[in-house]
Amino acid sequence: MFSIRFKLVVALMALMLVPLIGAQSWVTWRLHRSHVEVELAAVERDLQRLLVAIDTELKHHEKLVNDWANWTEFAEYVQNPHTPFADSNLHQDAIAAAGFSWLVVLDGQRRPLHTVSQNGIDPSAVLASRYGARLLQPPAPGERSCGLGHWNGTWMALCSQGIRDSSGQGPVHGLLVVGEPLRADFNEHLFKLTGLRFNLSADPAPDLPDSLTGDLITSALGQARPRLQSTPDLVQAWWPVRDLASQTVGHLRLDWPRQAFQQASDDLASLQWQLFGVFLLITAGLLVMLDRVVVRRLVRFSQELRTIHRDEAWHANLTVDGRDEITQLAHDTNNLLGLIQSQLEHLELQAESDALTGLPNRRSFDNTLHRALATFKRHHRPLCLVVLDVDHFKLYNDHYGHAQGDEALKALGRCLLAQARRPGDLPARIGGEEFAVVLEDTPLQGAQHWMAAVQQRLASLAITHEVSPVAPDLTLSAGIVAATPDDTAESLYRRADKALYHAKTTGRNRIVLAEDLPADRATD
Ligand code: GH3
Ligand code: MG
Ligand code: MG
Repeated sequence: MFSIRFKLVVALMALMLVPLIGAQSWVTWRLHRSHVEVELAAVERDLQRLLVAIDTELKHHEKLVNDWANWTEFAEYVQNPHTPFADSNLHQDAIAAAGFSWLVVLDGQRRPLHTVSQNGIDPSAVLASRYGARLLQPPAPGERSCGLGHWNGTWMALCSQGIRDSSGQGPVHGLLVVGEPLRADFNEHLFKLTGLRFNLSADPAPDLPDSLTGDLITSALGQARPRLQSTPDLVQAWWPVRDLASQTVGHLRLDWPRQAFQQASDDLASLQWQLFGVFLLITAGLLVMLDRVVVRRLVRFSQELRTIHRDEAWHANLTVDGRDEITQLAHDTNNLLGLIQSQLEHLELQAESDALTGLPNRRSFDNTLHRALATFKRHHRPLCLVVLDVDHFKLYNDHYGHAQGDEALKALGRCLLAQARRPGDLPARIGGEEFAVVLEDTPLQGAQHWMAAVQQRLASLAITHEVSPVAPDLTLSAGIVAATPDDTAESLYRRADKALYHAKTTGRNRIVLAEDLPADRATD
């Protein structure tokens, strides 16, 4: 059996913990989801920003190349390579100052006129590579003149522009092709500009089976959807990089730290612990309150009820305090206990009384006799016992019927009760038409008078008994005995009964004293 306390604890835990865990899980899941959505959108924005920054670097080269290529003197030089233009403008230092590593100037027939190279890069090898086709073709108006290339293990900005006069409008006289490896601190440089950490790699992007696909991003480096993948610390965005020849030459990986997410997760976890703490406090408070208001009082209620049951103390009352349903329950239980008590008293009374005459019955008489005898022995006050029997009652019954016999017995009962005026006068019906009377504090003579008075009362009722051989009316015979200190209840009754027997055998309708019997004197 589980106690109410146990059930309350389990119920409160279930009622509060389950919704709490459910709500927390839902909130965590919801926040996590929306946070991830926000995060991924931010990653895509930053990736786009990074690509714009890279493109800006390329545009920087592009502007320089365009400035150089749209130069009337340069155009004249291409048409007439014998001018001193190359010596004064296309020497290595000038090229380096312009921010290029190598340079090739080609005439209208794409024949190299001038080549400047450093860092061991062979420009003719670059022109012979797959980038050659694109570099030897001057870009159409509006077309980009620079792009990214990966050559010989190096990332390079590769540019080519048609050489025109300074207006930039005239015919193309030659071609300017330049290249510049990406600076060694390219990543760091862009990090300073954008605050974004990234990695440009010529390796193909790894297989990313669990990744998400982002929105389409278009940039000078190509057009593709990034693949997005979350780890606990980072969101990584992978984006394929296209070179000047519009081929995928590697990928860009943006490493986007999830600081905000981690901070939010930490905050959420701490909030959850705080909520859990509050939950525990509320639960403990509720338990203490329920314990005081309900459980303890019920326990006391139950203990008191068990004590009453054990001691059969039905008269006792439960003492539950307060003014609520439990108090009402205690009141109702007290009422029930009162009912049990009165029913028991009633039953006891019924068990001790005779249904026909209302007089105490044989059982009650036995108790009375024992008690009276004990009192007699303690206080030495005289005690008498009368045993009486209706004469020829069988004949009466046979003649007048059983119902009338009953009425006669009731009448005799009333006579005995009427005569029992003192508290110590205790008549009882001990058999069919046989009665006994304990007369406390009464000497033999008094008992004799008492019995004679009963006889007179009966006679005064004049209950006709026309078939009686003794008298015209109903009569009775009685035996009376005075208690002696040696008497037991049994011996006293036996002697009284003997006296009655004597009364019967000597003519009936008489009172015989036990002490008048010779046998009685001899025995006692
Ligand atoms: P005796 O004078 O020797 O006492 O003769 P008796 O007929 O009175 O005695 P007996 O013992 O032969 O008969 C007793 C009768 O009392 C028998 C029975 O029918 C009757 N009796 C016993 N109890 C009741 C009762 O409750 N109601 C009625 N109507 N009759 C009863
Ligand atoms: Mg009898
Ligand atoms: Mg009789």
